[in-house]
Amino acid sequence: MIKVIKNGTVITMDEKRNKKYENVDIVIEDDTIVDIVDNYNGPSDLVIDASGKIVMPGVINAHTHLGMSIFRATNDNLNLTDWLNKKIWPIENNLTDNDIYYSTLLSCLEMIKTGTVMANNMYFNSDGAIKAIKDTKVRCLFGNHLLDNDEKGDERIEKLKQLYSDNKDNSLIKFAVSPHAFYTCSKSYLRKCSDLALELDLPLHIHFAENLDEVKGIEKDYKKDIVDALDEVGLLRNKLILAHATFISESGLIKLKDKDVSFVHNPVSNLNLGCGIANISKYKNYVNVCLGTDGQGSGNNMNMFYHLSLVDLLQKGLYKDPTIFSSYEALQMATINGAKALGVDDIIGSIEVGKKADIIILDMNNIEVYGAVDLITNIVHNTESINVNTTIINGEVLMHDRKLMLKIDLDKLKEQIDLIINRVVDKSE
Ligand SMILES: [Zn+2]
Repeated sequence: MIKVIKNGTVITMDEKRNKKYENVDIVIEDDTIVDIVDNYNGPSDLVIDASGKIVMPGVINAHTHLGMSIFRATNDNLNLTDWLNKKIWPIENNLTDNDIYYSTLLSCLEMIKTGTVMANNMYFNSDGAIKAIKDTKVRCLFGNHLLDNDEKGDERIEKLKQLYSDNKDNSLIKFAVSPHAFYTCSKSYLRKCSDLALELDLPLHIHFAENLDEVKGIEKDYKKDIVDALDEVGLLRNKLILAHATFISESGLIKLKDKDVSFVHNPVSNLNLGCGIANISKYKNYVNVCLGTDGQGSGNNMNMFYHLSLVDLLQKGLYKDPTIFSSYEALQMATINGAKALGVDDIIGSIEVGKKADIIILDMNNIEVYGAVDLITNIVHNTESINVNTTIINGEVLMHDRKLMLKIDLDKLKEQIDLIINRVVDKSE
């Protein structure tokens, strides 16, 4: 099947060319971009008119918990430890696979409605989550929560192996080994996770150095610098995705420079939980830096564009210097850098011939954002979900003119979410 996106202003995010094309056509054959031309006159089964609109790669959420949509707005004034201990963990223990199906489904639809084509997901009760991801046809790097602070540590690893072998041929779902954090995993368990990731050739995704208490805890337990602690349990051998990495010293960065390490910046979550501001202006000189929303409990939502604006603003404020960071760098974090972190930059993250068609179309013609001189700055700072007009993943149009193309009953979904929240979520202050 041939689809043509006609007459759009295309931002490629392509590293070599870094181009913006005016009024071009993108030709998609099945799931792949086969041509970017001035005026395509060949055969087509579907034409999407993008005149006056912006066509860009779909954005990539490099750290989140898709099952946490039911925890949206659960934290106003708690720190990380209290929030997890009081509001999250006691409830997560009671979630069924069916609960996770619906909470993940809600998040996947939120992704499509806000132009996100792929998420790096870490969560419990995986069968329901995998079903929701398949039902919504989004791309996912999937890791079930691995931790051994109870007797189920090995059981969780066996579950990952089973999920991986059952789904490894799925073109949209890839897997990661995802130990939760140093404070929920023993040294031997982290080593086991690292070995498994090497054995299966999968990335390893972990929360790391999210706040200062965690950093102090690792230094106390390991009696060394936190980057050396990563090394002690073998993680520097892995393709490593560190979520947060809010506090990494200069000496730590030097040790990471030649390793395959990505930091996922989660600015909204870090601010909500009072963790601090990661110095990504410095980090970017040493490692690949990308962007995540975290779960909705701490990150408020999965609209990457809402998070994107903060990335740029925080650095300029942190340094009291507007030249330290640019909107384009922020957009790179949400596209091609995210793809690199998740190991999919050969297929998505930019618009290039030969890559998969994971493309979004932005309509910036509403009065509130109209008349921009610099397109990139306008996208990074002013895009709202209503501006995301079309979302295409793997060549399939999942939303067009803001209308979801999936056969999912949204009223039933909302009903199910209300039932789950009423049953399990603690609404007390
Ligand atoms: Zn997280």
